[in-house]
Amino acid sequence: MAAQIIDGNKIAAQVHADTAAETQALRDRHGLQPGLTVIIVGHDPASQVYVGMKEKRARELGFLSQKIEMPATTTQAELLARIDALNRDPRVHGILVQSPPPPQIDEREITLRIDPKKDVDCFHPYNVGKMLIGDTDGFYPCTPYGVMVLLERSGIDPAGKHAVILGRSNIVGKPMMALLVQKTRGANATVTVCHSRTPDIKDHCRRADLIVAAIGKAEFLRADMVKPGAVVIDVGINRVDDPAAKRGYRLVGDVAYAEVAEVASWITPVPGGVGPMTIAMLMQNTVKACKLQNGVKG
Ligand code: NAP
Repeated sequence: MAAQIIDGNKIAAQVHADTAAETQALRDRHGLQPGLTVIIVGHDPASQVYVGMKEKRARELGFLSQKIEMPATTTQAELLARIDALNRDPRVHGILVQSPPPPQIDEREITLRIDPKKDVDCFHPYNVGKMLIGDTDGFYPCTPYGVMVLLERSGIDPAGKHAVILGRSNIVGKPMMALLVQKTRGANATVTVCHSRTPDIKDHCRRADLIVAAIGKAEFLRADMVKPGAVVIDVGINRVDDPAAKRGYRLVGDVAYAEVAEVASWITPVPGGVGPMTIAMLMQNTVKACKLQNGVKG
């Protein structure tokens, strides 16, 4: 059996179209413009690329899009002062600080300083707690939220299914667990979370109807670990050397795609699966933040 491919580029484009329409409606009906500010400290080339993509997409969607570049020598106090000013600015609805910052920056304190109402990454414990208890007026972390939307828009209902999540990080694995287990439409899964101390990972995976792989190990999930007909979502992004490639490497996921696609019913590719959804959900969160801060319903 060859799996059906979940096209993340296509679904992300649908989400962006929705976001653009909501943005237009906010402007027409309420005179509002969603505002997203991304702060980057230092000159990490990969971070520059990510921030550039976010800034450009926000602009294209009609947001007030702002990129703040701070030098690598920025102190904690300087960064906190910048966040305080953005917290007070009513034109700014979403704030994020690109990770990783330079070593002198305490990321935890930065996370706590961003006003939870503007925490569109959903890193603040206030929003993480809201997500866990099923409150819908906070935010969801962009990557796991993107996975939920991929499932929903592919007509895959996790209800009653056994989901196995590989990885327990705070940005992917744990929130993925919280979202899939909720007592709500589009969730209701029975969830097992595996990590580096889990023995018998293969046995857990073999019992899964849905596997979300997020461990950062190239092609870890092999075909013999997957139950025939399971849905496989690959969050991993790994570089592997490839002398034939122009850049000397290529990107692969945590799933051995070609062989798992022979066993699974649905599968996400890498690239072009979960990746494009992360920015799409960040933009959705920013529109939500704008609505919440201005008392706009719906
Ligand atoms: P992370 O913080 O490094 O966490 C990795 C998790 O995998 C940890 O819980 C770790 O277990 C577990 N793990 C590592 N090796 C394992 C093994 N051999 N067997 C079982 N569990 C193992 O990574 P992350 O930030 O969650 O990211 C995971 C992957 O997703 C990475 O490839 C990353 O690049 C990718 N990612 C993609 C997006 C996107 O937009 N598509 C967004 C975020 C991340 P312990 O907790 O026991 O150490």
